[in-house]
Amino acid sequence: MDLVLNAADYHLLTPYVYPSAWPENEPFRQLLSLFVITNLGALALYLLFGTLSYYFIFDHELKKHPQFLENQVQREIAFAVRSLPWISVPTVALFFAEVRGYSKLYDNIEDSPYGWSGVILSMLSFLFFTDMGIYWIHRFLHHKLLYKHFHKPHHLWKIATPFASHAFHPVDGFMQSLPYHIYPFLFPLHKVTYLGLYIFVNVWTISIHDGDYRVPKILRHVINGSAHHTDHHLYFDYNYGQYFTLWDKIGGSYKSPTSFEGKGPHDYLRKLREKESNGRENGCEPRTMPNGDSEKNK
Ligand SMILES: [Zn+2]
Ligand SMILES: [Zn+2]
Repeated sequence: MDLVLNAADYHLLTPYVYPSAWPENEPFRQLLSLFVITNLGALALYLLFGTLSYYFIFDHELKKHPQFLENQVQREIAFAVRSLPWISVPTVALFFAEVRGYSKLYDNIEDSPYGWSGVILSMLSFLFFTDMGIYWIHRFLHHKLLYKHFHKPHHLWKIATPFASHAFHPVDGFMQSLPYHIYPFLFPLHKVTYLGLYIFVNVWTISIHDGDYRVPKILRHVINGSAHHTDHHLYFDYNYGQYFTLWDKIGGSYKSPTSFEGKGPHDYLRKLREKESNGRENGCEPRTMPNGDSEKNK
């Protein structure tokens, strides 16, 4: 985060915003700047990639699903925008610790213990570590004592859109992002790599809510994609993972996505259309389908 803070200080904050007497490394100034940068950055990532995904990837046909809520898109955005500033409070505390030099982030490739291979290895270990962390934290948030208080709002969206990706209760949002923030305090990581990974995880979170269920056949049971996460929103107790299905398989919560078995939301809509057109051909009113696919409506 200090890369972003230094760039903001150099190009904008020092020349135009703060009085010249306020030193760049003064803690309160750093906290204030980090708070503004974190909020604007998170909002920009969410709205930019969420909007691109919503207009270019998300299948708008899904909005006809009986479990798609009224004004859902507006509600998802409003929920996320209200939560982000609260999530940013503890996040900024961790970014501040990074900026003050308490993390194991380093500037140059030469500082990497194993050169370029160390950088590549750290990217893989970051993905493995955060995938494992999010799996267990997410599963923990499904515990009956916590679910209602913190995680239930995210499950309001049964047929999610890309804008549901950041629509969390603040405690839930921060808890699930914790592995990303803890990693650089435990393991060495290149600063630019960290920034890239941070953007990547935000885009990935959007992508598992985008309703595009395609995954190369060979990776269908390895990668946790939108098909897997859609079933998590619909059936609750399965597919808690983030990028891979590994921990769901270890933890016994893996479920082959219904959309790979011809029973997903798109198949449901197709059957609904067929029923309606059969009804019209037979001259009778279309029958209302039962409300949704979920086994239980938690
Ligand atoms: Zn969940
Ligand atoms: Zn979700």
